[in-house]
Amino acid sequence: MKLAHRVEPGATVQLADLDPDAKARFDGKDDARAEKQLAADLGRLGELQERLYSEQQRAVLVVLQAMDTAGKDGVLRKVVGPLDNRGVQVVSFKAPNAEELAHDYLWRAHARTPRRGDMTFFNRSHYEDVLVVRVLGLKPKAVWKKRFDHIVAFERMLGDEGTRVVKIFLHISKDEQKRRLEERLDEPDKRWKFDVHDLEMRRRWDDFMAAYAEVFARTSTAEAPWWVVLANRKWYRDLCVARILVELLEEMAPKYPAIAVDPKKVVIPD
Ligand code: ATP
Ligand code: MG
Repeated sequence: MKLAHRVEPGATVQLADLDPDAKARFDGKDDARAEKQLAADLGRLGELQERLYSEQQRAVLVVLQAMDTAGKDGVLRKVVGPLDNRGVQVVSFKAPNAEELAHDYLWRAHARTPRRGDMTFFNRSHYEDVLVVRVLGLKPKAVWKKRFDHIVAFERMLGDEGTRVVKIFLHISKDEQKRRLEERLDEPDKRWKFDVHDLEMRRRWDDFMAAYAEVFARTSTAEAPWWVVLANRKWYRDLCVARILVELLEEMAPKYPAIAVDPKKVVIPD
């Protein structure tokens, strides 16, 4: 069953036509079928990730992008958190520091791509360099316009060298973001998450949506596709992300390596 929306290469996505409230065939948060599927997928994901790690041949890079409060951290906690620490990394990209600004924009991303055997999750990514940079006008159009092609070439290179790339956009509605920001103000133990800077980004919501639409149209490829996950419902968001990752790894079909010793001939000394 189709849970999330995969962006076909060159296709135009009308984000406004995708309902962030989607929940597919499920009734809601407490639907036992949803709970069962998530548990099954998380279990399977753990097994596949261990195989990937044991192989030490190929790698997976998962890019997570979203507007503020859309749930990148929630996905990392619920879907990535249960995985074995061996072979799994999370890298968060903030506004670039002086050292990063002294290099080309892909430098810091490339430095953190996964080693063979690993799965790395980018919490924000090189896509910020065609999103926030564009929307806030941090670089002239002549500069960021060229980056779509660089990014496609960069990701193609990663793929050719053994790293599968998948990109996930968590799509929440502007109303849902308002609700979540208000919640951060209302609840004392969520207040620390409130950032006035998020309001500035929120004001530019439509510009961000237009920038995302161009990102999808220009950089979703057969080898490194974009997925739009409908994310107003947190349980559904997690379910979709887990499914995308399980399907990707099933397709890669990692296998435990043959071991060099014959277990029958090895005697463990007392
Ligand atoms: P959280 O708020 O949940 O901690 P976050 O990813 O929003 O997570 P912040 O430290 O709040 O983390 O924000 C990081 C900020 O850095 C974002 O506003 C993002 O747009 C900005 N940023 C990331 N990469 C770049 C870049 N290349 N150029 C400019 N700004 C960037
Ligand atoms: Mg933030």
